Amino acid sequence: MEKVDYIIVGAGYAGIFFAHQLIKEKKSFRIFYDEAVSASQISAGVCNPVILKRFNTFWKSQEQIDYLNIIFKEIESYTFRNYLIEENVVRIFHNDSEKVQWKKNSEKEGLSSYLNPDFINLQSVENPYGAGKVNRSCRIDVASFFNDMLNYLEHNQYLIKENFNHHLIDKASNTYNNIAFKNIVFCEGIASNNNPLFSDIPIQPNKGHCLKVKLHHTPDSYIIKKKHFLFNLQDNEYYYGGTYDRFDTTYQINDDSVEELRNGLQEICTSDFKIQDINVAFRATVADRRPVLGRHQQHHNFYIFNGLGARGVYNGSYFSKVLFDFIENEMNLEPEIDVKRFY
Ligand SMILES: Cc1cc2nc3c(=O)[nH]c(=O)nc-3n(C[C@H](O)[C@H](O)[C@H](O)COP(=O)(O)OP(=O)(O)OC[C@H]3O[C@@H](n4cnc5c(N)ncnc54)[C@H](O)[C@@H]3O)c2cc1C
Repeated sequence: MEKVDYIIVGAGYAGIFFAHQLIKEKKSFRIFYDEAVSASQISAGVCNPVILKRFNTFWKSQEQIDYLNIIFKEIESYTFRNYLIEENVVRIFHNDSEKVQWKKNSEKEGLSSYLNPDFINLQSVENPYGAGKVNRSCRIDVASFFNDMLNYLEHNQYLIKENFNHHLIDKASNTYNNIAFKNIVFCEGIASNNNPLFSDIPIQPNKGHCLKVKLHHTPDSYIIKKKHFLFNLQDNEYYYGGTYDRFDTTYQINDDSVEELRNGLQEICTSDFKIQDINVAFRATVADRRPVLGRHQQHHNFYIFNGLGARGVYNGSYFSKVLFDFIENEMNLEPEIDVKRFY
């Protein structure tokens, strides 16, 4: 029988960032990866500290930005690649009153370091009212990050490419098949609703569509946002997305969502574009918009790490350390994120 400190179930942002904490702290573990297309793998990877509807920020944004740089430096020390791309988000204004609001907010404490007060005019897309730049925003190279991390985990015998079957857990002996574990951390995204241990936690799927498009001209080197994010992937291939849909729970491509994306892109790009790829996945969201982490009510070595919502990179990276410190270092979980709020 193999003995490990941890089993991790799921290899999206939650599972991979938690695995990083274990690698760093030299814990033994196995991570289950079912090879399904996850929200994480189709995400834009944008790290944006501003809510672009209201020009506001969110709880712990400062801490999350600071920690992002730390964790990616740590990861780089063993994958030998930097995944942080220093491109800022720029928000195209819909009208003059948005500019006034941006300027006003840029003078507020907590927002002045994010909302750049000097407006810009983008050269390659329609922006008759100009655009505002979000300082300290960036994105990660999502494809390389998952490719490298999964390869690293496989190469070092951490990865099990299988669907984890909850019914095979023996709670009395703390074993799963031939693995004896101390703890299990469930990082399953929306599949957590099928986990008999955590199915009562209200994780709501929010379906997102995104596109890969070929553009014939080169937009400025920013992450451009009007209705959705647009940025360059390589050559003249661009990412555009994603949509939000709380009602459609099927995996099929929804024509209305694709039309929404096509219209959004047409609004800013006057020249032709060609859709190359349409991707669909579900964000795991929670009504109070806070991640969910912590310990199972009865089985104290079973944990959940979920509800990363639309901010998988910030929430996944920052709260992976919070969860590790809770389990290993007796640090408290703040009530806003503790799974206990649902018990
Ligand atoms: C279109 C789109 C764009 C987005 N853009 C951004 C962005 O720009 N920036 C950002 O920060 N966030 C973005 N997000 C949100 C982000 O993707 C999510 O917050 C994040 O993916 C959640 O990560 P997760 O690990 O909790 O869940 P998931 O990514 O869903 O990963 C869970 C994984 O667990 C696996 N799994 C579940 N059950 C089992 C089992 N029994 N056995 C084995 N494996 C299992 C699943 O197959 C999946 O691979 C975007 C999301 C979408 C859909």
